[in-house]
Amino acid sequence: MDQILGQVLRNAVWERLDMLSDLANRADAPSLVSVARSELPRLTEGWRAMLRAHEPDVRGDCPTCSTRWHRCKAPCSVWQVAHEHLVAGGLAPQEAPRGRGRKRSPLPAQATHQTAADTQGRHALIPQAPAAAR
Ligand SMILES: [Zn+2]
Repeated sequence: MDQILGQVLRNAVWERLDMLSDLANRADAPSLVSVARSELPRLTEGWRAMLRAHEPDVRGDCPTCSTRWHRCKAPCSVWQVAHEHLVAGGLAPQEAPRGRGRKRSPLPAQATHQTAADTQGRHALIPQAPAAAR
């Protein structure tokens, strides 16, 4: 019975996340503002609650991820994912195709930039090394 309840709980959370992603991709600007005002505080509070459970103890281990037999050093995977998505991901240029439905930020310019990067940008550094050696 606990397994069924656990599955129901997990499905509800996945469906909620899917719904929010869908809203972010499809909703018009006024709806997005409304959703952001109501959902962002809930999401940030959810992250805080989860991260509090994974704060390192006095030994520098995560008390939630550690077991009696295996200590998990902080930062545990939860903190690593949090950093990746909240900090590093926030600074990285958008590469996911989720901007497709948005009205602003035209993607053809990004495609042109990728082509230029392939021939002149950072990707050109790899083929240049053997060419320079010749
Ligand atoms: Zn942890």
